[in-house]
This record gives sequence, structure tokens and C-alpha cells, in this order.
Amino acid sequence: MDIPLTTIILMNPNGTIQIGTQPWFKGKKVMKCYQCQSNIVFEGKYNQIKCTKCNTVNQVPVIQ
Ligand SMILES: [Zn+2]
Repeated sequence: MDIPLTTIILMNPNGTIQIGTQPWFKGKKVMKCYQCQSNIVFEGKYNQIKCTKCNTVNQVPVIQ
């Protein structure tokens, strides 16, 4: 099952995962899970994003 493009996955510094939906990606960042190639949309300064499809923890590249 593909993650809808409107699904936003956030990993908080304490390790919890937030999943929300928004119609726009304004201010959001998108990366592909390197394991299953799913799109992961997030915002904020997170060092790691956990894919909810395959549970792979992706290192977030530094984005200026
Ligand atoms: Zn994945």
C-alpha cells in the first residue's frame, strides 16, 4: 500500500512519530525512503525519518 502523497510523517526528537495530512506541501521537505522508495514528506529539523511502510530509519540529508 502506497503512502498517499498528502501523508506527512514526522519523527520527533524523542522518537515518536507523527502522521498528519495536509493538502499542500508548502514548507515541507520530501525524501524517498532508500529502502522501499516511498515518498516521505516532513518538516522541521529532523536527523532521521522513519518510513512507516517498511520501518526503515532514513538519515535525512542536510538541507540548507
Ligand atoms: Zn520505506
